[in-house]
Amino acid sequence: MAVYVQKFGGTSVGSVERILAVAKRIANSVAAGNQVVAVVSAMSGETNRLSALGAELSAAPAAREMDVLLSSGEQVTSALLSMALTDLGIKARSYLGSQIKITTDSSHQKARIEHIDPENLLSDLNNGFVPVVAGFQGVNSDGDITTLGRGGSDTTAVAIAVALQAEECQIFTDVDGVYTADPRMVKDARLLETITFEEMLELASLGSKVLSQRSVEFAGKYATPLRVLSSFSNEFPGTLITNEETSMEKPVVSGITYSRDEAKLTLLGVPDIPGVAAKILGPIGRENIEVDMIVQNVGADGMTDFTFTVKREAYDHALNVLEKIKGELGASMVIGDKTIVKVSVVGVGMRSHAGVATIMFDALAEESINILMISTSEIKISIVIAERYMELAVRSIHKAFGLSDKAVSEA
Ligand code: ASP
Ligand code: MG
Repeated sequence: MAVYVQKFGGTSVGSVERILAVAKRIANSVAAGNQVVAVVSAMSGETNRLSALGAELSAAPAAREMDVLLSSGEQVTSALLSMALTDLGIKARSYLGSQIKITTDSSHQKARIEHIDPENLLSDLNNGFVPVVAGFQGVNSDGDITTLGRGGSDTTAVAIAVALQAEECQIFTDVDGVYTADPRMVKDARLLETITFEEMLELASLGSKVLSQRSVEFAGKYATPLRVLSSFSNEFPGTLITNEETSMEKPVVSGITYSRDEAKLTLLGVPDIPGVAAKILGPIGRENIEVDMIVQNVGADGMTDFTFTVKREAYDHALNVLEKIKGELGASMVIGDKTIVKVSVVGVGMRSHAGVATIMFDALAEESINILMISTSEIKISIVIAERYMELAVRSIHKAFGLSDKAVSEA
């Protein structure tokens, strides 16, 4: 019998009605002859609520206690779903991470899974039970509860699918799958049947929120087929994330994504001499500020400008650091902008096609959108533009690559 791991996110289990609907879906899958392991998130909003409670009570709650607190959300859902299944005549049993067990390191709130014992799950499956696993949590070598970081239930599901060598890990969510662009922004965005792990990883790191980056990484590493599909409708088969060889769609560009979580800073008039980049980024790194894109202009008269981007929330912090080192560097001025966004196109087909950047830049030129920064890798091109142009940019790039529903995007 084929084993399927089915993970249900917060909105999919957000109410008693939703939990009943999920139970019915699992029951159908069991009736179809599959062995199912369910993995659940906390009911929508619950993890935020618990986190706020901790913050309200203490300015610096111990990480160990935060994990005991946060992991309780998933515990609730696993019990409720298990009861719902039992009422439908399906044998089911809930499990916490520590019961399975899912062993992690001791980095509370961002623990990494080290090992999963498949025995409990296998013996349940062989006895006709549906194990209902509380996602997002594990246990360290001291027996303390750990959590895997926000969005970590996806990772739990993938790790279990790997441990059980499941047929497929299915992530049920509130969208129909992975689209060529955010369907709320681009009306004729197309639902992708397949996408490669590599592309999905880029999309997740560049702003797409469909799957957590770590879960895609994990699934890709073990080549475990991962499918994203809606728990709200049976209409679509969702999107299968798979290896390049088995991926059916190979357009030049598979998807467009964006991130508002960006800000840029520039040091004007720094001396164009060896060691300057290190002198700027060293202090930024020591403050734990993550740097994304970096641009250094060609120098003129022995001077140059140095620009980089950071997450928007880190902007003020980074600005402070630069103001402090400005004098020592001999820079003339620090300027910055918090109203920028990053728009990226991703596709493995780019490897074998020239001129992809030109199509993107032409589309932007046509709309008179000024490009502030550019960065490329083998399978992606990212640009930074002013925030007010974001929707226009995404729509026109989507159109330029012929990604819409009606177009055939074979290139
Ligand atoms: N409940 C956790 C969160 O909201 C884990 C998850 O949903 O994946 O981040
Ligand atoms: Mg969630």
